[in-house]
Amino acid sequence: MKTMDRLQAQKPQNELASAGMMCTYCDLGPCIVNPFDEEPHVGACGIDAEGMNVVNLGLHVLKGLTDYGVGISVPLSLDRMIHTHEAGVTIQDLVKASGSILEPSQTLVGQWQSDQKKPRNVESGLGVLQKDAVNIVTTVYSPDIIKQARSQKMRDLARGRTARGINLVGALCEGAEAASNFGIPLLGGIDILEEAGDMIDYVYQGGDVAAACETAVENFSRRDQASFRKVTPRRATVGYPVDTETLNKAVDSGLIAGVVAIMGCASGKSTWNLDAIVHQLISQKFMVLNLTCGLLEHPDHQCALMNEFQVPCVINAGCCEPAKLLGIRALTVLMPRWRDPRMLTAALALASQKIPVIMGTMPFITPSVRNQLADAGIRVEMDSTKVVEVLR
Ligand code: SF4
Repeated sequence: MKTMDRLQAQKPQNELASAGMMCTYCDLGPCIVNPFDEEPHVGACGIDAEGMNVVNLGLHVLKGLTDYGVGISVPLSLDRMIHTHEAGVTIQDLVKASGSILEPSQTLVGQWQSDQKKPRNVESGLGVLQKDAVNIVTTVYSPDIIKQARSQKMRDLARGRTARGINLVGALCEGAEAASNFGIPLLGGIDILEEAGDMIDYVYQGGDVAAACETAVENFSRRDQASFRKVTPRRATVGYPVDTETLNKAVDSGLIAGVVAIMGCASGKSTWNLDAIVHQLISQKFMVLNLTCGLLEHPDHQCALMNEFQVPCVINAGCCEPAKLLGIRALTVLMPRWRDPRMLTAALALASQKIPVIMGTMPFITPSVRNQLADAGIRVEMDSTKVVEVLR
């Protein structure tokens, strides 16, 4: 059973919780309010639905800050909620706190520099997996695993087990970064990783690279080849740098209407059609930075940006770290879904820099909190056909 099947099994999801009227912050909960009924309009501590939204968002931000190793906290306190009947923090507080992930994000991006980065074509999607090779998927940015998989020793080991060689591909965020810098194929996001299942011989998530390759070869020798599916891979270009100065020149000269960065993937509850959105953006003179786990390509390689600055109108730019986008003028960020606390915190962090964000799935919030987020620069548009309209 895959994510979408399990999601289907959850349907219908609780309407009040979906609308942001549920809180599980403390052991007095879970509290559910319903302003349209006779049910309580406040939780046991006295906070209303709006307060619950802020508490829930605060918990997400706390997790996002932890993921980035940020020491600052979000001062949620049950005692204060009982005393004041308020969340004790505001959306603006959360935006400000989230901004502190940008420094560690910048450090992370700095660690991913590679002198092997250059424009080149790579394959992507399920079709990057090969029936007759040992398939290793790396979900971490690791030059060592790439080197090890390409070594003569590991190639010989694979051939000794009748494999054609070792096929190392990337997946998820850091796999996308590795594809961008080292030109390895890119499998895609978590959905494709899950779909690939037994076609993968080893998923590398860190640790001893030699042991990983040896285990992968061993697993290949036991792989059920009958269940292997042949899929045609997509091809796309990776390796173009994100040159902020050049992009700003293109914006200032009016060559492009602006830059649109896409972070995260259109899966799960998101109904966005990214290919269609990208085509629409390019036709309206926007330039696209693709920071999703899947590669995007636009057929018009001879766009004005390429002619003038040798920059393609769509750059597959690797992992979705928000620090990559700092300093780009006329920038809007599209998030097909807010996905998880880390991504939601990134949205608030971008808002802290006055960078507008459009999300394709709604956090669990009431209309009033949605308006507060919009005031902070984060809007929600679930209709794929209207995203570009909202952006303009
Ligand atoms: S913080 Fe308040 S609303 Fe939330 S679970 Fe506790 S008592 Fe209920």
